[in-house]
Amino acid sequence: MSEKQLVIIGSGPAGLTAAIYAARANLDPLVFEGTQSGGQLMLTTEVENYPGFPEGILGPDLMDNFRTQAERFGAELQPLDVTELDLSQRPFRIRAGNTEVRAQGVILSTGASARWLGLEDEMRLSGKGISTCATCDGFFFRGKEIAVVGGGDSAMEEAIFLTKFATKVTVIHRRDQLRASKIMAERAMSNEKISFLWNKHVTGLKGENTLEKIVLEDTVTKDHSDFAVDGLFLAIGHDPNTSLVKGKIDLDSSGYIITHREVRTSQPGVWACGDVQDSIWRQAITAAGSGCAAAIDAERYLEEEAFLREATGQQSGGQGNQEIEW
Ligand code: NAP
Repeated sequence: MSEKQLVIIGSGPAGLTAAIYAARANLDPLVFEGTQSGGQLMLTTEVENYPGFPEGILGPDLMDNFRTQAERFGAELQPLDVTELDLSQRPFRIRAGNTEVRAQGVILSTGASARWLGLEDEMRLSGKGISTCATCDGFFFRGKEIAVVGGGDSAMEEAIFLTKFATKVTVIHRRDQLRASKIMAERAMSNEKISFLWNKHVTGLKGENTLEKIVLEDTVTKDHSDFAVDGLFLAIGHDPNTSLVKGKIDLDSSGYIITHREVRTSQPGVWACGDVQDSIWRQAITAAGSGCAAAIDAERYLEEEAFLREATGQQSGGQGNQEIEW
């Protein structure tokens, strides 16, 4: 089993920024990218607000740049999903399929996944009219009528994108006010192909082999009605991917990793960055910033720990970390 100074789990903007900084600090990081590398930006189209790209850049192209930059400084990238993480002793053990490594430090940047409505038949009709990714599935709805659920920036972005294919896009929101930023809301509202249904919850799905209708409940009158659609795109936010660390480090009531000093988890030697610990900003640039902070903190901590180990003659993996404030 090989031993690494630092393992990074996840390869969105947070994980790959951590990899760039850790590689430049000679921590020789190993990144478990996951089988779907690149994080949520792989599922977006144009990213218009990432500083340094005044004309905008496609999400997948931006992530390609991150990868190239991390590899340029020697980060090792493995396209594997971590299946087990043992944080009970140092060095930590990380298993990804048949690969097992030990590491003095771990950076968690596992991101977040799209939320589903939790309706009966949702999974049965997933890929048969229901999707959480307009960029992935929009193409299949050329000439069709589509609904998008949600009132945030993602819902506006998806609705605007889907007008490239659909004849009509209806945004269904549970309130009468959007959560989306003003610029995104205005862009969606001025698009002739987009209309809005306010104060509506999707409470049911109908269709044998593919989605045919959705059932809507009016949140004010409580009336129910059927609404015919060919496709339903869910854009109702994300949940943090914390199944690997549940019960091992502290999570908040919504499942986000609790960090102090921005990126330190409740377990010494384990840092968290990006959407897995950020329920507030959730931007690519803030994720990248926290990845940078995690790598710098890891470098300082691991260096100090190694120094103490040497000074006290302890073996690698000893409890030298007890001497360091966490
Ligand atoms: P979000 O801001 O949390 O919005 C989620 C939306 O879904 C809200 O309108 C919410 O309704 C609704 N919702 C949540 N659960 C629901 C349910 N069970 N049933 C029906 N509706 C439900 O999430 P997001 O839009 O994915 O955005 C996340 C972050 O990414 C934000 O910070 C956003 O600014 C950012 N983002 C930015 C861009 C951009 O700048 N281009 C693009 C995409 C995302 P309520 O409003 O009633 O809570």
